[in-house]
Amino acid sequence: MALLCGVDLGGTKIQAVVVDDRHQLLGEARVPTPTAGGPPDVVAAIAGAVREAAAAAGVEPGALTAIGVGSPGAIDERAGTVSTARNLPGWEGTFAMRDALEAELGAPVTLGNDVNVATDAEFELGAASEFRSLLGVFWGTGVGGGIVLDGQPWTGRGAAGEIGHVVVEVGGAKCPCGRRGCMEAYAGRGAMEQRARRLADEGRKTVLFRIMEERGRPRLTSGIWKRALDRDDELAHELVDRAVRALGAGVASVVNVLDVEAVVIGGGLGLKLGEPYAERIRGAMQPHLFVSDRPPAIRLAALGDLGGASGAALLAARRLTPA
Ligand SMILES: [Zn+2]
Repeated sequence: MALLCGVDLGGTKIQAVVVDDRHQLLGEARVPTPTAGGPPDVVAAIAGAVREAAAAAGVEPGALTAIGVGSPGAIDERAGTVSTARNLPGWEGTFAMRDALEAELGAPVTLGNDVNVATDAEFELGAASEFRSLLGVFWGTGVGGGIVLDGQPWTGRGAAGEIGHVVVEVGGAKCPCGRRGCMEAYAGRGAMEQRARRLADEGRKTVLFRIMEERGRPRLTSGIWKRALDRDDELAHELVDRAVRALGAGVASVVNVLDVEAVVIGGGLGLKLGEPYAERIRGAMQPHLFVSDRPPAIRLAALGDLGGASGAALLAARRLTPA
């Protein structure tokens, strides 16, 4: 029996799962992503998460058949490197993560892009398993996208699916990527927080930052946005509505090009706000759909928080049995 380990390397946490070859969960672990240091510190934290998940499954890390890691940044699968992972500490350059992890853990490691592996997981095991084509939209700090066409992941020349940087307003708001008018400049949680802070500084009333302080958080997490909406905070509603409009325009534009059967909405904010907001995104897409009488199915990601790690385990499995 193969023992597969999947790791989701996120900006705030690292999740690891150990599964068997029928994808039954045997063990899992979650550790915080280091906020200081550099790639070697992140590798040490990943190794720690893998050891913990293996221990929970009752095996040594060296007994793992294969390990898959979904990572942010630009991935060179062949070279086993991760470059410009801006959400990770000290990761502006290129780092040979695969070799470092293999040396540390004694098992073969495969790397993939975090959003692509999460999309793949929803396609194989989750909300879109009955479809042949899919757009994954991961609405969190940024807005990531993954594409499956004709049953196969489409990664282009390595950078496909950057749906957050679809332009929804020419010359519009400044995006964290440095360009203007990207969907992420309106819908990314990072950009939403910046705007909320500016408006609060200008005197707009909001409970967002009070909730943040009460809960001892350094940032406006998805949970804080949800709480502020539940309390009917006007500014929170205004910024989330603006995000939904941008998502509607951006996602519909991509659907007009790819004509996928389904769109799966995931990510921290997507999952936290849930079905009512998936429904709103559906509504916001409608006026922009060229073939408006045949919209794609819009589903909420079914694997939730563990989707990334499950997808990384699939990545490990795929390396064992190349197509
Ligand atoms: Zn951008």
